[in-house]
Amino acid sequence: MKQFENSKRAFAEASEYMPGGVNSPVRAFKNVGGDPLFIERGKGAHIEDIDHNVFIDYVLSWGPLILGHADDQVVADLQAATAKGTSYGAPTELETELAKKIQSIVPSMEMMRMVSSGTEATMSAIRLARGYTHREKIVKFIGNYHGHSDSLLVDAGSGVATFNINTSPGVPKDLAYDTLTVPYNDVEGVKAVFEANGDDIACAIVEPIAGNMGVIPGTQEFLQTLRDVTTAHGSVLIFDEVMSGFRAAYHGAQSLYGITPDLTTLGKVVGGGLPVGVFGGRRDIMMNITPAGNVYHAGTLSGNPLAMTGGLSTLAQLNESLYAEMSAKTTRLVEGIKQAADAHNVPVTVHHVGTMWSYFFNAGPVNNFDDVQASDVAYFAKFYKQLLQQGIYTAPSQFETNFMSSKHTDDDIQATINGFNAAFDAVENE
Ligand code: PMP
Repeated sequence: MKQFENSKRAFAEASEYMPGGVNSPVRAFKNVGGDPLFIERGKGAHIEDIDHNVFIDYVLSWGPLILGHADDQVVADLQAATAKGTSYGAPTELETELAKKIQSIVPSMEMMRMVSSGTEATMSAIRLARGYTHREKIVKFIGNYHGHSDSLLVDAGSGVATFNINTSPGVPKDLAYDTLTVPYNDVEGVKAVFEANGDDIACAIVEPIAGNMGVIPGTQEFLQTLRDVTTAHGSVLIFDEVMSGFRAAYHGAQSLYGITPDLTTLGKVVGGGLPVGVFGGRRDIMMNITPAGNVYHAGTLSGNPLAMTGGLSTLAQLNESLYAEMSAKTTRLVEGIKQAADAHNVPVTVHHVGTMWSYFFNAGPVNNFDDVQASDVAYFAKFYKQLLQQGIYTAPSQFETNFMSSKHTDDDIQATINGFNAAFDAVENE
């Protein structure tokens, strides 16, 4: 049996200083029971905790580490950048270099702004949409998560769903009132909300491939309807690709659907493990940002040289064939997991797009937040503990996505499938 004594002690101490012992809620392992692992180091597809247990990691810092942990080139580039100075609060050419690289991969982002998190990216995109349209209402989808800014913490996914919160205390009711929520993949719901409120709606924000209630791809009809009604009503369409960008496909979810949003938000992979978010899109809309226009946006560390280097170094190593390889590995993994569950008569639905994947203890189909909520979270909690014993580290919640990296080997994947089989056996024998 793996022992977690050091993590347990570290968590107790951390809990004296930080609410819940963590700086982001799902890290606390609260609804899988037990204490979170405190991590000592990572290399490639593996992490080691402070008890010296080693795990195959599919959390990958919740998505950013597409090249795995401590990639040699990324580390070397960051070391070189650090030696030159960590931040200037003045422009560097690195910012333009990253913007050009992003634009070459996601051409709909004609202009963009760098920020330090996905939350800032979506918050700023919403403000921009409101400032541009002179309207206040926004549309979001139940179970989508766009970070923790006030307007977006209504019927959200991720930790908000994990902890069963509908609208966070502290969000002013007038702001919540301006956030109209619709079930995900609900074509009629989209038409109805625009019919009733269309001329007051500044924007619709959507995860084109949802990743914050597990992986749930938007349907083509749903996203196309959204594109059509936003255009018809002069509302801005924002694709939140903080997770799906450089993950669902090299060119993002928008390339898979052939639908062009007005604005896109990015995060996670775009910083390669350093704090980066990006919002960007149509030039005529982006030109409303200060100082070109008068919708305010700023940041002491926005475009920070280390963060830009993390992104540049990571994106430089990505290409179509790497995505084909990583997607094939993901397919092999989820098929193995499905077979393992079937062999143990455990109802499971597996979803995957590109390098994003998840397993729901649910016979399916799983197309929206209500479906996800019908999953067996009690089984998930038991299973999760056994999976850790097998040395497999996946997201500690049924409402989150797992990821694949370029560093996971065939042996890692086979070991993971074996680990799932052993964990199903162990739960059966409890
Ligand atoms: N949007 C999406 C789609 C996300 O998945 C996340 C984070 N999981 C965010 C926004 C918020 O990003 P951050 O945690 O960097 O603030």
